[in-house]
Amino acid sequence: MVKQTIQIFARVKPTVRKQQQGIYSIDEDEKLTPSLEIILPRDLADGFVNNKRESYRFKFQRIFDQDAKQETIFENIAKPVAESVLAGYNGTIFAYGQTGSGKTFTITGGAERYSDRGIIPRTLSYIFEQLQKDSSKIYTTHISYLEIYNECGYDLLDPRHEASSLEDLPKVTVLEDPDQNIHLKNLSLHQAATEEEALNLLFLGDTNRMIAETPMNQASTRSHCIFTIHLSSKEPGSATVRHAKLHLVDLAGSERVAKTGVGGQLLTEAKYINLSLHYLEQVIIALSEKHRSHIPYRNSMMTSVLRDSLGGNCMTTMIATLSLEKRNIDESISTCRFAQRVALIKNEAVLNEEIDPKLMIIRLQKEIQELKDELAIVTGEQRTEALTEAELLQLEKLITSFLEDQDPESKLEVGTDMRKIHHCFHYLKKLLNDKKIHRQSTAPSENKDQNCQEPLKEEEYKKLRDILQQRDNEINILVNMLKKEKKKAQDALHLSSVDRSQLSHGQSSPFPPGNPDGPKTLPFSASTQALDSSTSPYRSSLLHRKTGMREEMSLGRQEAFEIFKRDHADSVTIEDNKQILKQRFAEAKALGESINEARSKIGRLKEEITQRHVQQVALGISENIPVPSMPDQLEEKLRSQLEEEKRRYKTMFARLKALKVEIEHLQLLMDKAKVKLQKEFEAWWAKEATSLQVNSPAVTPSNHVKPFPQMSEAQHERSQPLSNKSDVYARKILPSPGPLLHSQEQSSPGAPMENSIPERPVSSVPLTGDSQTDSDILAFIKARHNILQRTGFQ
Ligand code: ADP
Ligand code: MG
Repeated sequence: MVKQTIQIFARVKPTVRKQQQGIYSIDEDEKLTPSLEIILPRDLADGFVNNKRESYRFKFQRIFDQDAKQETIFENIAKPVAESVLAGYNGTIFAYGQTGSGKTFTITGGAERYSDRGIIPRTLSYIFEQLQKDSSKIYTTHISYLEIYNECGYDLLDPRHEASSLEDLPKVTVLEDPDQNIHLKNLSLHQAATEEEALNLLFLGDTNRMIAETPMNQASTRSHCIFTIHLSSKEPGSATVRHAKLHLVDLAGSERVAKTGVGGQLLTEAKYINLSLHYLEQVIIALSEKHRSHIPYRNSMMTSVLRDSLGGNCMTTMIATLSLEKRNIDESISTCRFAQRVALIKNEAVLNEEIDPKLMIIRLQKEIQELKDELAIVTGEQRTEALTEAELLQLEKLITSFLEDQDPESKLEVGTDMRKIHHCFHYLKKLLNDKKIHRQSTAPSENKDQNCQEPLKEEEYKKLRDILQQRDNEINILVNMLKKEKKKAQDALHLSSVDRSQLSHGQSSPFPPGNPDGPKTLPFSASTQALDSSTSPYRSSLLHRKTGMREEMSLGRQEAFEIFKRDHADSVTIEDNKQILKQRFAEAKALGESINEARSKIGRLKEEITQRHVQQVALGISENIPVPSMPDQLEEKLRSQLEEEKRRYKTMFARLKALKVEIEHLQLLMDKAKVKLQKEFEAWWAKEATSLQVNSPAVTPSNHVKPFPQMSEAQHERSQPLSNKSDVYARKILPSPGPLLHSQEQSSPGAPMENSIPERPVSSVPLTGDSQTDSDILAFIKARHNILQRTGFQ
């Protein structure tokens, strides 16, 4: 058991404006626990009349300043947790902070660069690398991805996402068994045998989340995401299985609604936008206070799911993400305060081991068979399930003659077969019962002899019982002896198998995977094949979703999409990534060729060395001189060349492996960006369509015509949230001169309340599908585009 408090770390997000510096300072001098000091600017400090404090100091395990790299965050925060998960303990890492402070950037990573990948992809990479290295255990990895929004659980990896929207899928619910273990109903677990498969699942979940998000639900700020890696391990042949879970949690934004800002109320008495974060805080407070017997885990789904991570069987780490700008100072202080409470919570992590019943049965069956075999050797008889007719007859004869034998020393020899012994007992019991019945039926006539016969029978039975007891003991002794013998034999067997495995390990150890000497691990084609990740079912499902959307488009809309794409800010990122991807592919191709060359060279060198040997032996025979035991100069040179080539091969192979992961990641980033672009285009298109309806002289408010006759009322309503979002893009990409129709306040962290958060609206609505209407809209957009260009708006 490992007892430890929750580890707390702080990460400060880079500020946009340099003048924001001076708001905080990090004191690393304090050897054990560094501290973060937040200095209140004068104008803000004035609000704190009551306590007159101008700075606040918070201690953290470590504080990562603005320039901290993702790699550093992983090495210092996530790697130790991943290590304990590999050892069989549960682990949790959660990011807490206000919206925009870098939670998603820290947990999942940035959407643009490979180097920006966050804790999840790096942890997956690390875990799979370690699993590959450890051949002493059999590992199985599963992934689940849960989103909790408005107290409802959604399975981001539900395979039915393709067909239905998130809302229509069965909700994930929490079940509790009598031992208070939490089970999540409707949350799918996906086996991931490789890093790529796991990475695909991450991107699939993220894309599903993005598609479901609309400006009305702002899921990414208000929902919690829990990406879980389930790892089970067992040693070959052992029935003990270890289970460990690693939760990587991106919490909802922690900002509060009311910033009253008067009379010292600034940092207190504020309402939460997110009820489950409020319950999380209540759980944390209850846990950090001594002598609290009731911890209100059940109040919310999130605290139920993370129950083990908070005050339970888990090694937990919190990352407080801070955006230390002047306007965020109160939120930053509140995040740090929360962290200080969290740091008081003690967890007790234990190894989660259980016996696999299936394996246990298999083992016992094997043991029985072995015992039977050994018995057969000892008795010289093959054991069958039941005694044969002949055996039964023979036994009964034996018993009869034994019973008839007047010699008190006579024995009933049936051997060590338990079946025969049991049968003897049954047979004797039957005889005894038969006799009893017979005696009862003839009782009056035999009354006289009974007195003289009874003592004799009693005596006889007693003797018989004694003999049987004796036999029983003998049998027990025999069985024990057999067991001991068996154990000895097993030990000997085990020793020899250990020897063998050590031997074989010793033989194979110079050939790590990918080493040119291991012919089976060699095929380069396999690794190049893996580079073609488009064969992956997850990726192809993402692509299908994307292309599926395109196929539905009319020509006009496709053209508009091209314009939209060209002008969109993300297209630069997509183009950049495309270029990088091209470079990486080229590099991988060149590397592949070099690896193949190195491989052939290694083969040639080996051949030359063998030939050299053969020559020397032949020379020795023909000239009758002994073959030198040491390699000659030429051979020495060949050998060192061979070693050099092997080293080169290994380095190149490692680089190729890393490239493969990078390419996969970049491809997934691009796919995600493309889906996002498509989604934003749909929203923009809807906006433009509505705008056309308003601007078109054919449609007047008095003879109100439905914008799209083929669209149902319900569809139209559902498309509105989409057009809201498009306001932003319409302004950014094609400035809209007309008044915004469904203009709605951009949801700001301060505005909406938990109970006013609506259900998720349906995310993606096919808009028109009518090519005539589509080309009308396109013509309109183009015309406006031209006017704007001419008038200098663009
Ligand atoms: P949150 O999830 O807390 O709402 P995000 O992770 O989405 O915040 O971060 C908001 C923005 O800031 C994103 O554009 C993200 O890329 C950027 N960002 C956050 N942290 C960092 C960092 N450490 N370095 C660079 N950019 C960052
Ligand atoms: Mg986020």
